[in-house]
Amino acid sequence: MIGHRTHLSVNEKGHLEIGGVDTVVLAGELGTPLYVTDEDRIRTRYGELHSAFSCRGYGVKIKYAYKANTSLAILKIFQNLGAGADVLSEGEIRVALYIGLKPEEIIFTGNNKTDEEILYAVQKGVLINLDSIHELERLKRICSGRDVRRARVSFRINPAVSPKTHPYLATGLKESKFGVGHKEALKAYTSAQEDRNLSIEGIHMHIGSQILDPGVYAEATSRLLDIVCELKEKLGIDLKFIDLGGGFGIKYQESDRYIAPSEFADAVFPVIDNAVERCGLKRPEIFIEPGRFLVADSTILLTRVNTVKETPFKKFIGVDSGFNTLARPALYNAYHEVVVANRANEEAREVVTIAGNICESGDILAHDRSLPKIVEGDIVVLLDTGAYGLVMASQYNFRPRPAAVLVSGGRWVLIRKRETFDDLISGEILPPDL
Ligand code: PLP
Repeated sequence: MIGHRTHLSVNEKGHLEIGGVDTVVLAGELGTPLYVTDEDRIRTRYGELHSAFSCRGYGVKIKYAYKANTSLAILKIFQNLGAGADVLSEGEIRVALYIGLKPEEIIFTGNNKTDEEILYAVQKGVLINLDSIHELERLKRICSGRDVRRARVSFRINPAVSPKTHPYLATGLKESKFGVGHKEALKAYTSAQEDRNLSIEGIHMHIGSQILDPGVYAEATSRLLDIVCELKEKLGIDLKFIDLGGGFGIKYQESDRYIAPSEFADAVFPVIDNAVERCGLKRPEIFIEPGRFLVADSTILLTRVNTVKETPFKKFIGVDSGFNTLARPALYNAYHEVVVANRANEEAREVVTIAGNICESGDILAHDRSLPKIVEGDIVVLLDTGAYGLVMASQYNFRPRPAAVLVSGGRWVLIRKRETFDDLISGEILPPDL
């Protein structure tokens, strides 16, 4: 067990193991950088969240947020567990349908949908979560004169609350680009109700990511439910679902508070119960859209040490990955715990900085960490990289994106091939006259 992570262990050789697989052996066989995902851990997290929100008097659906990790194998695991999909692009709709989800299990959010994406969603019967009245008008225009089915819609509400997270991860502040404010909400639903080609199905919010204060969900849910009550009272609309979004935070470092999933559920259900009773609502289905909570800690990133460099100011451990492989430290100053896989039972001896291999000064994966003495060839592992890790990988500096494996019960299976030079140039066109 590494810190609070029961799915990671150290074997008799002193090597880090995940899902019963020796990470040093894996790195030797498959090379690095390598994302390694523990299948059982995903199932456990799904079970924890599902049971926390179940038996509360409402039907509950988990719409896994595809943006967090779109490896097909992982999407399939969620489908098998019974999850629907929260998607943000036509590509994500297509991949959800590709792995076998039914259109009615998918909710299509996104604040800048193209006309083509909107039309595609309508044609497929996927619910469109509208971001503004302007988008509603576009939807009406796109559908008018076309022989398409009735569009299923909801609106994303901006509840104007601070989720107390990194500013880049806050999406429900009053000045955010997302959603419809309280004042415009009634207008938006009135306009949707006037169009017989639309079927109003629900209401949605998503206030941010890596939220570690359940109280902010209670506040935002209360604001959302005020709108739900107004819709009932003024427009006679009984919504089929209320989508509370995702954002449930995880413990990345020991100093982070651990929030049990039941704490999030305990925060929102009394608010919903109260509104249902007070406003005489038909019991809606409750959707949640977790990404990070379900996949973040299932996955680790294996990197190999290329170089160890001492300056008068710092000791740098240069690894074979950078923000092209894991963008979160550079993008959000995110903290990922570091373990040296082949020295996992050794004491910390020195303070080092894990430097990426991208030619950018911001390419630091971990600052000033106390670790065992590291030498070239060691395997440095970044923990909790399952969410917003591989999906954000790029080919910057003309480096191929990494491979990924899934482990379970001491076995592994490749779920993504390492890219090659051919992949790097595959989309390029060299005009013949050059
Ligand atoms: N739903 C929407 C609309 C999102 O934009 C996101 C991510 O930002 C999520 C759900 C998932 O968030 P998280 O991974 O923090 O649970």
